[in-house]
Amino acid sequence: MKYTMQEISNMPLPFPLRLRYALHLCVACLALCSPAAYAQKEMAITLDDLPFAYARQLTVDEQRVAFESVLEALEKHAVSAAGFVNGVHLTKEKAAWLDAFAEAGHRIGNHTFSHPDLHKMSVSDYMQDVDKGEESIRKWLGTPKYFRYPFLHRGTSPAIRDGVYTMLCDRGYEIASVSIDNDDYLFNKKLVDARARDKELDLRDDYIGHILERSRYFEALAMEKLGRPIKHVLLLHMNYLNALYLDDLLQAFRDAGWTFVSMPEALNDPVYALPDTYAGPKGLSYLERIESANPDAAPRD
Ligand SMILES: [Zn+2]
Repeated sequence: MKYTMQEISNMPLPFPLRLRYALHLCVACLALCSPAAYAQKEMAITLDDLPFAYARQLTVDEQRVAFESVLEALEKHAVSAAGFVNGVHLTKEKAAWLDAFAEAGHRIGNHTFSHPDLHKMSVSDYMQDVDKGEESIRKWLGTPKYFRYPFLHRGTSPAIRDGVYTMLCDRGYEIASVSIDNDDYLFNKKLVDARARDKELDLRDDYIGHILERSRYFEALAMEKLGRPIKHVLLLHMNYLNALYLDDLLQAFRDAGWTFVSMPEALNDPVYALPDTYAGPKGLSYLERIESANPDAAPRD
């Protein structure tokens, strides 16, 4: 006896087979809908401008309390973070904050001494500032030493870019590249300036929405350029904004299926060893500095 395809597909399945199909469907749904579908949503949390960014409107005591809030949020979410220091702002009291940061298991890296802009100065002056920065934080620097370029500026010409990079490597530095760039510093400025005028401002939802949106954008860019998820490095700042909202932001990441890895683990992703092919004025995510590895990827404007 012959059946048409239509008849076959309309036949009731024996119970064990029906059960198996149902199970397969459930597994497929779970795989698509649960955070497990994004098993490779991994990122490292990094904080720039330690001991404290945009500190001018806050007393030292207020900065300390804010610094401690950031540390508490990291501890609560079991995040092993990295902080990048500008030594010019270190005092005896603020050095104790860095001690606490290091004792909590977070890494400390060099962000130059005075946060100079490589694009507005000579290479030799820039490297002097790098060395002065190292001198000021030597006790926390560890091995390997990590360096984060201020403004993510890595040189306006290939010669400057490659020259500075080579000198940093010769000094034993690994570059703490960033994959998820964002505007947390602008949200912070708005918040701190409003506070200085005794104005109440709640930026929680806007800020968290912004960071999640940037993270999704760079996740998609990694897929477009490399055809795979990467271990991301998120750039944030040690500031008043994150003292208020980092706990909620880390929770929002977890709710969206992200897990946190240390910065050294993230930087082991081969993406950060791809050649830096950008030389120009912009401070960019490393994903924007490399050529697309996928020749079929649609060109971006
Ligand atoms: Zn900075």
